[in-house]
Amino acid sequence: MPELPEVETIRRDLEDAVVGRRITGVFLYEPRVVRHPEPEAFVRGLKGKRILGAERRGKHLLIRLSDGWVWAIHLMLEGQLLYQEADEAIASRTKLAVQLDNGFQLRLRDVVDLARVALAPSADISAVLGLSKLGPEPLDPGFTVERFLERLKGRKGMIKPLLMNQEVLAGVGNLYADEALFRARIHPARKANTLGDAEKRRLYSEIQAVLREGVAARGTSGKRGLYRDLWGQKGRYQEQLKVFRREGEPCRGCPGEVALIRIGGRATHYCPSCQLEVPVPATR
Ligand SMILES: [Zn+2]
Repeated sequence: MPELPEVETIRRDLEDAVVGRRITGVFLYEPRVVRHPEPEAFVRGLKGKRILGAERRGKHLLIRLSDGWVWAIHLMLEGQLLYQEADEAIASRTKLAVQLDNGFQLRLRDVVDLARVALAPSADISAVLGLSKLGPEPLDPGFTVERFLERLKGRKGMIKPLLMNQEVLAGVGNLYADEALFRARIHPARKANTLGDAEKRRLYSEIQAVLREGVAARGTSGKRGLYRDLWGQKGRYQEQLKVFRREGEPCRGCPGEVALIRIGGRATHYCPSCQLEVPVPATR
C-alpha cells in the first residue's frame, strides 16, 4: 500500500510535472471512483481549472487548483497515478484520465477498485475527507519526541496497530511500521503502556529514519507491490528492507530468522530474537 514515502514521492513528481498546466478534459471510466461530489459535478468542476501545486496530508494527495478548489486522491491499496502522453494506450483498470493542455494525461489506475478521488473548495476539503481527525505528520519539524510521547500517553493497545492508526500518526502503514519496530528492537505486539521511555524515544527516531530513507529511495515497490511513481517507475526502498516480507530469511541483526505473524489482522514481520515480547530489564 502506498504509505507516506510513496505518496510524498508522487507529490514531488506532480510538482515537477504538472504545476501550471490547465485541465482541458476529464474522462471518467469508473464513476464509483468519485467519492465527492456526484460524478457529473466532479467532471464539470475539474474541467478548465489550472493546477497550482500539490500537497500531502497523511496518505492523501491534495492537488491545489485555480479558483480555490482542491482535487484529492487516495490511492488506498494498489492505486497508481501515472503521467502519460494522451496517445499512449490506456492500461486496463484505468478509472480516470485527466487531460492536460500539454498533450499529457494524469491517469488513475487501480486493480482492486479502492482508490478514490474527491473535489471540493479548499475550505471544505478537510470536512469531506475527515482530515481534522488525522494525527500529526511524522516528518513535520513540529513533530518533536515530546509530541510523540504525548500521542502514546494512556494508550493500552498494541504498539503496531497504534502506529498504523491514522488518528495517532498520519502516513505510517504496515511496511514502515514493521521496519521502524524492528530497528527500535520493539516487539510489534507490545502494549504501548509497557514501553519504557528509552524504547519510545528509539521508536520515534526510527519512524522518522525509515520514512526519510523511504522518501530518498522514492518508495517501495516489492515483488507483489504495484506502487509506481508518476513516471511509472519503481521505487528502490525494497532493497533496504530489514524485515518486511523477508519471513524465513536471515535476520540482518542476529543469527536468527525473520518471522511472520498476524497482528490486528495484518501480516507482521519481525525477528523473535531482536524484538523480545518481554523486554530484558535494562541494567544499571
Ligand atoms: Zn534478529
